Amino acid sequence: MALIKCTECGQEISDMAQACPKCGKPTRVAIKQKSPWGAAILNFFFWFPGYFYVGEYLLGIVFLLIVIAGTIMLCLNLNTPYGHIPWAVMALLADLLISILLAIDGYKRVEKYNQAQLKK
Ligand SMILES: [Zn+2]
Repeated sequence: MALIKCTECGQEISDMAQACPKCGKPTRVAIKQKSPWGAAILNFFFWFPGYFYVGEYLLGIVFLLIVIAGTIMLCLNLNTPYGHIPWAVMALLADLLISILLAIDGYKRVEKYNQAQLKK
């Protein structure tokens, strides 16, 4: 255990403390950091949970609806006979591209979220 200086008022506090006893400023220990890779993986596989994870609920709902619509369309297409294979391959590639973009976006959003938490 060591003593650190409060970034707000300069009071010496334990580095294990959740907040400064004098001014109440939360220490780094108390700040909950989120994992950028967690959001990236969630978004890569499912497209939307990464947004809920980082608190971007609107984007999460939008992509959830896109996933539901896409699943319904996929189910409807399963009933059609073959002959759509090039189209299916294109759709799969597009899917993969969107997965990668959403994973990167999720990663960046968590990094930004963590930065904002530290500045509070
Ligand atoms: Zn303080």
